[in-house]
Amino acid sequence: MDIKEIVQDLYLKIKDIEDKGNLASYIPELENVDSTSFGVHISTLDNLNFGAGNYQDKFSIQSIVKVLSLVMAYRTLGEELWKRVGVEASGFSFNSLIQLEVENGIPRNPFINAGAIVVADILLSNLKDPKKDFLDFVKNLSNNKNIGYSNKIAASEKEVGYRNAALCNLIKSFGNIENKSADVLDFYFTLCSLEMNCEDLSNLFLFLANDGYTVDDRKQILTRSQTKRINALMQSCGFYDESGEFTFKVGLPGKSGVGGGIVAVHPSQFAIAVWSPKLNKKGNSYRGMRFLEEFTTKSESSIF
Ligand code: GLU
Repeated sequence: MDIKEIVQDLYLKIKDIEDKGNLASYIPELENVDSTSFGVHISTLDNLNFGAGNYQDKFSIQSIVKVLSLVMAYRTLGEELWKRVGVEASGFSFNSLIQLEVENGIPRNPFINAGAIVVADILLSNLKDPKKDFLDFVKNLSNNKNIGYSNKIAASEKEVGYRNAALCNLIKSFGNIENKSADVLDFYFTLCSLEMNCEDLSNLFLFLANDGYTVDDRKQILTRSQTKRINALMQSCGFYDESGEFTFKVGLPGKSGVGGGIVAVHPSQFAIAVWSPKLNKKGNSYRGMRFLEEFTTKSESSIF
């Protein structure tokens, strides 16, 4: 079977399974989504672009943006970055405060909220016009100028962002946040509100399958070594406290978000994005996980 057939067949199969997930209700605006939506898109290095279902409908990518903000911060600070944030799986929930206190305000990794808040602080300190510069970076990478933030979602999250505010203030008390907490949080919520579709997402992440180079114009986004490190972090920390399970069942580096999106990368081959808004108990898309598990099995494309 070729890849298109596998994607199409699995899309039809998984679309009809009972969706046992629930919408992320802790951000009120995220509940205003058609919970039956389901899309998938694959982009390969040998120019296959194929999608099924709602792959052209945009959604809130939430924590998936943490990979992109990390990439931008890594380009800016280089290895110095790792003095401010660790590279170890946390084993706690993504918005936990517990480790931070014990570990002196150095977040375990850049994909838990604490780590992404430090990364947002780094970008705030280093970019001239942070919201615009970050969006330009993403637009250029994806070749889609229509990608944008959702003010509604950012505002909705800000209104209930007590835990993120607590994380930011706790880190600041240890001296690991340079800017005003309110400014860092505003930027962090804006980053998380970024919206795009599965096609944009798989195109955007393809440079991580291509040694850090964009595919169309071979622009270098990261060095080969930096690319390897970002993929390694996605592998060990990309799925909250279900990262081991994702490695076990799917076997690709990737990142999920509470908007129900998942993007995964097979170095030297492809990037694939799935979106289905209902989440399993660990906060990952229920049907997205099922789809990717069966996809790597059928196409024999786990990296292991
Ligand atoms: N903006 C969300 C938060 O900070 C991101 C959560 C996620 O997608 O993991 O809670």
